[in-house]
Amino acid sequence: MAAPPPAWNRSPAPFAELFSAEVIAARVAEIGAQITAEYAPLSQTTDVVVIGVLKGSVMFLADLVRHIGVPIFMDFIGISSYGDATVSSGVVRITQDLSRPIEGKHVIIVEDIVDTGHTVHYLMENLATRRPASIKLCSLLHKPDRAERQIEIDYLGFTIPNKFVVGYGLDVSQQYRNLPFIGYVQGV
Ligand code: 5GP
Repeated sequence: MAAPPPAWNRSPAPFAELFSAEVIAARVAEIGAQITAEYAPLSQTTDVVVIGVLKGSVMFLADLVRHIGVPIFMDFIGISSYGDATVSSGVVRITQDLSRPIEGKHVIIVEDIVDTGHTVHYLMENLATRRPASIKLCSLLHKPDRAERQIEIDYLGFTIPNKFVVGYGLDVSQQYRNLPFIGYVQGV
């Protein structure tokens, strides 16, 4: 039997829990099944590449790909936003590029959250120039109240209110990514 998580990350305190580990797991399984159904025919002739956006999507990606029942390749891309960490400036740069070309391949981008939409907008425009066969977006979370870009999310986990959320990959100053649930700082 797997060891239980350490006591400090079993309790939501000091965070208010938005989605429990069980709720997240159930939704991730549903998204995996949806992707499996849609990519089963495509994957027979063309490579499917699932691209995780570092670092926030790592937990989501790791769980999601185990629910995808077709052959896939995995790759990662690192993105950094200039300016204040909690306010998206819209100016982003690639800090770590893909390890292989995506030309002619079916690409699924896996993000942790679409907030203003600037990061994903930049990323999708950049990847589109590399001429993939198709490009779709899968995001665990979406904060529509903050949208500054019109972004079409093909596979979405949850829509959330305008709160700064942490856990399950999402950080505050690089901490709390390992919380098994998603929560927000109470009173914020
Ligand atoms: P956007 O460019 O869509 O405004 O922001 C994208 C990035 O900002 C996300 O990939 C994530 O790293 C960060 N971000 C946006 N909202 C939140 C949030 O509520 N919590 C955390 N931890 N990061 C967020």
